Amino acid sequence: MSDTTAQQAESKSLFAEHEKIHPLKVSGLYRKIKWFFLINMLAAYYIAPFLRWDRGPDAPGQMILFDIPHRRFYFGPIEIWPQEVYYFTGILMVASLLLFLTTAVAGRVWCGWWCPQTIWTDMFVTVERWIEGDRRKRIALDKAPMSLGKFTKRFIKHSAWMVIAWWTGGALVLYFADAFELVRGLTNDVAIFFTQILTLQLPSAPIHLGAWIWISIFAGVTYLMAGIAREQVCIYMCPWPRIQAALTDTEALNVTYRYDRGEPRNSVKKSVKLAAAGQAAGDCIDCNQCVWVCPTGTDIRLGMQLSCIDCGLCIDACDNIMSKVGRPKGLIAFDTDLNIERRLKGEKNSFRPVRPRTLTYLFAMFLSIGLIGWSLATRAITGINVLHDRNPLYVEEGDGSVRNGYTIRMLNMERKTRSFTLDVSGLQGAVISKVSEGVFVFEKSDKGSFIVEIGPDTTRELRVLVVLPAGRTISKSQPILFTAQDLETGEKLSRSDFFKGPGN
Ligand code: SF4
Ligand code: SF4
Repeated sequence: MSDTTAQQAESKSLFAEHEKIHPLKVSGLYRKIKWFFLINMLAAYYIAPFLRWDRGPDAPGQMILFDIPHRRFYFGPIEIWPQEVYYFTGILMVASLLLFLTTAVAGRVWCGWWCPQTIWTDMFVTVERWIEGDRRKRIALDKAPMSLGKFTKRFIKHSAWMVIAWWTGGALVLYFADAFELVRGLTNDVAIFFTQILTLQLPSAPIHLGAWIWISIFAGVTYLMAGIAREQVCIYMCPWPRIQAALTDTEALNVTYRYDRGEPRNSVKKSVKLAAAGQAAGDCIDCNQCVWVCPTGTDIRLGMQLSCIDCGLCIDACDNIMSKVGRPKGLIAFDTDLNIERRLKGEKNSFRPVRPRTLTYLFAMFLSIGLIGWSLATRAITGINVLHDRNPLYVEEGDGSVRNGYTIRMLNMERKTRSFTLDVSGLQGAVISKVSEGVFVFEKSDKGSFIVEIGPDTTRELRVLVVLPAGRTISKSQPILFTAQDLETGEKLSRSDFFKGPGN
């Protein structure tokens, strides 16, 4: 950064009084990139809940579903149970590493192109521009006293924002229930409401009250964040810019004002005169277009700043100006301060996307993906867990036998009922004497073992008593093995625990 720009940057306080930002419309490559991501990500967001996935007759057929009442998350063929929440942690880890990688390569492009806050703010500003006009008209409207025209424009704008916010919240709830059914249910609620109003009846509470409440909450948050708070979310609320400083380095590309080429700034006429007189004249004509198009009001000429989301719109604005004044494009570009220093020393530009930092992120990311994939591919879809009674640890019966109590939880993640024999081994003479579930007591089969059925997609919690007959020597604690064997496939599930006794 040059000395003058450094001084200017220092003089701009993070806590300076907030000025309303009125971004100017701009066209160019980066604007197109932003439109591309905006359209595709919104389309994916609204379409995804309606995509189907056949999981069989007893399972939900929605491709992406957060089934809170049944505590399941469905993503295509993957079904995550509550005890497998670590998969979410893994996915978040991969997402974070991807974010670190993109930051190390090209700065905050996540913030500028993909972040939902950016996308929704962009959409809200576009609607505002359609209704109130571009930057100059919006500033004039802000300053103008309230009139019928101003009130009408403001009313239309806020109504349009509310509609978008409403659809945003409306789409989000569709990820938590069957989308088609919920849409039918909500439409029915609306029909009932209007029928009651038209027949002069007091409107009753909607059938899907919970969904309506959540839609209202999500809609309110969207309206507030994208319509009112806008860039302040990025500058003051989001922790990412603060973390980013630790993830970037001098080799990372960022939207950069090439002060080596731009300074000293002058009007076109003055710079022509200076050049004719053999004096230094930069390419920046101080037109402020780069500042006016910026959605966060950043003056990138002051150097890299926390408020810059690397969206690239100032590049478009400056390129358009450079084309108009007949100078080469790229006065603002994705570049590094290191390159500026290199150029000032007469050296060549250099960009190293492959370096230890990016390779580390890439390796960690693929390792995490591999581990998640391997864990998903090999995960057990049935399971057994054993919990020994804490109090009493054992019971000595009147006939001299010793009894231990256990809680056994058996899990069947398959979509069909499975039957298991339940046995115990590892301690000679020890047998299962009773298996119960609540008040229901299981009976022994003809072959002398207990058979337990686990319904599809179910967990069953059993109370199991193990008895060691009188006359057996028992130490204080001896290992014991519970085994459940599938009657149909012969698959065995085992879990070890301890049998406690009064011995030494
Ligand atoms: S748009 Fe380009 S020429 Fe205009 S002020 Fe910004 S950097 Fe200078
Ligand atoms: S300074 Fe440029 S890249 Fe940064 S947020 Fe503003 S317009 Fe986007």
